[in-house]
Amino acid sequence: MSETTPRDFIRQIIYDDLESGKHDEIVTRFPPEPNGYLHVGHVMSICLNFGIGRETNGRTFLRFDDTNPGKQKAEYVRAIERDVHWLGFDWEDRMTHASDYFDQIYESAEKLIEMGAAYVDDLNADEIRAHRGTLTEPGSNSPHRDRPVEENLELFRRMRAGDFADGEHVLRAKIDMASPNMNLRDPALYRIRHIDHQRTGDKWCIYPMYDFAHTMSDAFEGTTHSLCTLEFEDHRPLYNWFLDQLQPPNRPRQIEFSRLNLAYTITSKRKLSDLIERSVVTGWDDPRMPTIAGMRRRGYPAAALREFVKRGGVTKKDKLIEMGVLENCVREELGHSVQRRMAVLRPLKVVLTNYPEDQVEMMAGLNHPNRPELGTRDVPFSRELWIEQDDFLEDAPRKFFRLKPGGEVRLRFGYIIRCEEVIKDSSGVVVELRCTYDPDTRSGTGTSDRKVKGTIHWVSVGHAIPATVRLYDRLFTVPDPNSADDFMEVVNPESLETVKAMLEPALAEPEPGRAVQFERLGYFCADTKDRDPNAPVINRIVTLRDSWAKIEKQAMSGRG
Ligand code: ATP
Ligand code: MG
Repeated sequence: MSETTPRDFIRQIIYDDLESGKHDEIVTRFPPEPNGYLHVGHVMSICLNFGIGRETNGRTFLRFDDTNPGKQKAEYVRAIERDVHWLGFDWEDRMTHASDYFDQIYESAEKLIEMGAAYVDDLNADEIRAHRGTLTEPGSNSPHRDRPVEENLELFRRMRAGDFADGEHVLRAKIDMASPNMNLRDPALYRIRHIDHQRTGDKWCIYPMYDFAHTMSDAFEGTTHSLCTLEFEDHRPLYNWFLDQLQPPNRPRQIEFSRLNLAYTITSKRKLSDLIERSVVTGWDDPRMPTIAGMRRRGYPAAALREFVKRGGVTKKDKLIEMGVLENCVREELGHSVQRRMAVLRPLKVVLTNYPEDQVEMMAGLNHPNRPELGTRDVPFSRELWIEQDDFLEDAPRKFFRLKPGGEVRLRFGYIIRCEEVIKDSSGVVVELRCTYDPDTRSGTGTSDRKVKGTIHWVSVGHAIPATVRLYDRLFTVPDPNSADDFMEVVNPESLETVKAMLEPALAEPEPGRAVQFERLGYFCADTKDRDPNAPVINRIVTLRDSWAKIEKQAMSGRG
């Protein structure tokens, strides 16, 4: 077991089973239905199943749950494979499909019939529902429940042969119509569906129901521990009933854990697909989506996602994890490794009136404040500069240590400047600042030891690279969008803001997907999909943790 993975209650069971000799080898599986892209909730299930497989030198299967013909797409299968690999896990030769077991599942159904534990029902769906009873009242037996075995077998074989139309018959388990657990009230095992399957073509016109197919696939595949989310707790008695009846050589154990829910977003493929259909987002890989593809495109490192689910733990309690926990994992992962650059998101022009018109100085920009081995880059400095609009305030409070009329600030890697004059347009909007610089204060080599309290970033106007920068915010306005009457009503209309930013020239050709820190602003990366030859398209991965207050404090101590 890896030293860093805590022993949650599931690992505890599994390690006990290894120690007691109940199992020599652990076999788990991650069983997605390819009806959408994987999301952050699936990350948890992937890390749990593949993580346990790896830690115990066991095996983990990637098993596509394709029991529902017609609904699943090859695009989703490919996306799931890509996402699991990207997260850092490998199924090697263990990629399977529930449909691989259709023959064996069919044989199991015949066995149940022969044992008198399943019967073919002629009731239609409405009638079956009417017989099922309610949570407080028992159901009633179907008139066909006591059909002789031979008749059941013959009917079931004719179902398979295509003698009946959809819905004409259904194979049901014969359990208990009075069970307090609705799942045990003679659940359907097979239904007729004259529809081609993406893998088995027209071989079948009957398809097994999820519970039956899933249990039997686990059994056939050698699964020792079948890990699933809490909503399947009530299905466990049925899972065990199948195993009790059929006594397969391998008996898997189902263990449930609580879903991972992330605040301000949703983890349901169906709802995520609604967001796409209603054009709230541009697709499954929109960087605002909690999908693995979206988070990858946004620039979240795989290691940050793994760390995130580790921090969330594995429990039986429902939880809604703060977005901040995920964002912190992303920051921590990027903070140490990525290089620093300067960019201005909302440019305001500064003209240094005492700086020579044609002069350009190359400033040495540190690529990482704590890692000198990452070196420096040249940052051109000139008479006209862009600074951030909100680094200037006309009516500034006393504690505002950035630029204000008559005030001084240090330009990172540059000089101390003083704001002499504020130029406004006819509507009173500040459009330019006339400033002077102090030639003795050049960062690192200046002769003056004058200090000012604030340091701000900047980009030389004549050297700036215009860019389209996408600033992302939460997708929903409330922490739990599922609790809203209609989750569409609580979509955040401001989840995406696009700004025309100015980048320092070292960012002229950013490598798509490679993260950098824009000083004082956050972590960013060029989009891997959208390209514009005239202006790089950049995604904000995450803002910096530090509040302005903290940044001000740091800036106070430094000379830039
Ligand atoms: P969705 O509601 O998004 O369709 P699902 O559970 O139907 O989710 P599957 O493709 O069937 O999606 O899920 C594959 C595996 O991932 C299952 O074992 C499921 O329990 C697990 N899983 C799905 N969502 C979460 C979640 N939010 N947290 C933890 N595990 C999850
Ligand atoms: Mg499902």
